[in-house]
Amino acid sequence: MKTNFINIKSCFANVIRPLGGVQWFVAILIIVSAWVFAPPSVLAKLKEDQIVPEASNARLGGDKQRTRFVVDISSSIGYAVYVLPDPYRVIIDLPEVNFQLPPGQGTSGRGLVTGYRYGLFSPGRSRIVIDTSAPVLIQKSLVIPAKNKKPARLVVDIVKTDKKTFFKNRKSQLQTQSGMAKLARIPIPVPKPRGTIIPGFNKKSDRVSKKRAKKTIIIDPGHGGIDSGAVDPRGVQDKKIVLSVARILKKILMKTGRYHVLMTREDDTFIPLRKRVEFARRNDGDLFISIHADTVNRSYVRGTTLYTLSEKASDAEAAALARKENRSDIIAGVDLGRENDVVTDILIDLVLRETKNHSIFFAQTVVKGLKGVTKINKKPHRFAGFAVLKAPDIPSVLIELGFLSNGQDARLLSSLNWRRKISRSVAKSIDKYFKS
Ligand SMILES: [Zn+2]
Repeated sequence: MKTNFINIKSCFANVIRPLGGVQWFVAILIIVSAWVFAPPSVLAKLKEDQIVPEASNARLGGDKQRTRFVVDISSSIGYAVYVLPDPYRVIIDLPEVNFQLPPGQGTSGRGLVTGYRYGLFSPGRSRIVIDTSAPVLIQKSLVIPAKNKKPARLVVDIVKTDKKTFFKNRKSQLQTQSGMAKLARIPIPVPKPRGTIIPGFNKKSDRVSKKRAKKTIIIDPGHGGIDSGAVDPRGVQDKKIVLSVARILKKILMKTGRYHVLMTREDDTFIPLRKRVEFARRNDGDLFISIHADTVNRSYVRGTTLYTLSEKASDAEAAALARKENRSDIIAGVDLGRENDVVTDILIDLVLRETKNHSIFFAQTVVKGLKGVTKINKKPHRFAGFAVLKAPDIPSVLIELGFLSNGQDARLLSSLNWRRKISRSVAKSIDKYFKS
């Protein structure tokens, strides 16, 4: 259904192409201001009517001193471009763009660029993240309008600099066009997937009575949008598998009538890690389940693994995995320097002991349930410092469904039947957990 939707939109993009630059400017201004001020229902409607420009190709030119990045877009669009440190990156923020670049684009680099990623960053907002091998500054950026059947081009020129100059100039590096200055400065909207607002949620009495009646399960499909997560050699993406499993699990749980089920993302949108935790807390979750799939260098490693939070990792592999998963925000170009709020400041040791014990008990229940249902990892329950498991008051686990780097696991992960099987088993474990 999603594909059809995009096709329809790109048809519109073709029809509308003859529009002039001024009209586009006005259109983008309207979209941006509507997006900032509109209530969610209007926003959803607007999103359906909105014309989404299509990015068809991108290329790199230049050398290790000066590198040019060019992306072809069906029409001129506004943008904001700036730089980030740790690691050094160039971020290009755009209104929503339908990326249709040839497969494999961005996996290799040239000049100062080691590679780039692109995708939806938050509703109505797309992003390109360019990794650089050294600190860089933006020399020039512009949009060349479409002309003579040639698409519009967004051009960004970067030049090599030293660390000192980078940090001195990074704040003044923001370059924008067509009203995107505003867009670049407004905070990332908190994702509110449809139907997630629990009426009267703020009233303590309601919360208590709701708690007695129904438990709230927060399902967190990992990655999304610009962050694909693990990708297997055949191009199967972690973010798609985990969203599919999350949807199946949600359906099964809803059918029981015993649970409120909310998902941190309902579509292919990127959600920062701390926003996932905030979402769970805001919605008064009773249990938080983050779903992932992984790849490792050793292709023989396989099986489902459950992770819970711990300051000290249970083993080197668990530590490495947590490091990898915690990089999600960096991959998506989130400026961690600007993102220090309550949740990120919560230290692992502040996590209530009770929450920790409940998390461990739930993880063990799931592992027990999975025996005989699917292949589980040799060490099926491990501990590490996953950022997404840091809600101090909600028992939280992370399920690594399996390894895309293992042929047998990859086959299971691609099977709808297997996804149903594992979801039914997890749902049973949720029942058991709340019964005891
Ligand atoms: Zn993952």
